[in-house]
Amino acid sequence: MGCSGVKVIDLHSDIWVDVADKRSRGETRVFENKHLNMLTANNVEGLVYALFTYEKKHLQHQPQRFIQMLAAHFAELNESSRIAHVRNTKEYEKAVETDKFVLFGMVEGLYGLEGSTDVLYLLKQVGISVVGLIWSEDNEYGTGCNTTRDYGLTSRGIQALKIAQDLNFIIDASHMSEASFWDVEKKVDGVFIASHSNCYSLCPVPRNLKDDQIKAIAEHDGVIGLVAWPEFVDLEDPTLDRLIDHGVYIAELVGPEHLALGLDFAYWSDTWNKDFGRDGKAKTTKGIEDVKGIPALLQGFEKRGFSPLEIKGIAGGNFLRVFKKVCG
Ligand SMILES: [Zn+2]
Repeated sequence: MGCSGVKVIDLHSDIWVDVADKRSRGETRVFENKHLNMLTANNVEGLVYALFTYEKKHLQHQPQRFIQMLAAHFAELNESSRIAHVRNTKEYEKAVETDKFVLFGMVEGLYGLEGSTDVLYLLKQVGISVVGLIWSEDNEYGTGCNTTRDYGLTSRGIQALKIAQDLNFIIDASHMSEASFWDVEKKVDGVFIASHSNCYSLCPVPRNLKDDQIKAIAEHDGVIGLVAWPEFVDLEDPTLDRLIDHGVYIAELVGPEHLALGLDFAYWSDTWNKDFGRDGKAKTTKGIEDVKGIPALLQGFEKRGFSPLEIKGIAGGNFLRVFKKVCG
């Protein structure tokens, strides 16, 4: 297959939840020992790792959890010579040249980080590249996709967005409510992305994007990361083939140069598929339950007529275009 050597950057991984948990129990070099080989064996060269704190057991102490996850990240970087944290294209290229696994930093919702937009300056200093102001639940910055009263971004959210742009963060609109999304669209001059969202037309859930939202991201030269989370692929029968349908749909609507992968696997957790599932039952997408499905995903695009160059773009090149444009 022509795409067998194509390297993948996954735009959404919560694996740092597991890394932080295992470190808190005394383990070290968790990412290298427990996760790295499985990723590289399946073509993955990099992850956008999410700092995500909205787990039930951490709701009462999200700032501490955030610091714990961030600290775990730096400890792992110090212990492992096989991983590199990159903040710009030059650092990315150096990491790849020296055969290191690449980590891009992202914050998924500023929960527990409310009270002042000053926190964005701190996030910049610790090398975060992608900022999603809101996860599914409303916060001080605006409304998420689970909202019951969609007023969009708050004045603090608009202020945060301005600072985030000035600091050259990539703005992520995944998880936002529709009103928040369109506020972002209005206020962001350049690129913004949806790191892990599929198409509402194929799977009508609030986490997916309607056609005009997909078009707006493309008009801003952003990317949409296809997500393998089963309930965003298909409500009845989530399969690899159905996930590829979402990719084909986006490519036909706005062009393959706006497509990426933000797979959001939860295989590293025993409970997440159940905890965050719609009906409290563990579900996965057949054929792409974990990273082992990635080579078949790339082959699937090839079978549907995508060119090797287009597949390279979807696998990571399109995101790197955005990364270079925003982060340098
Ligand atoms: Zn998410």
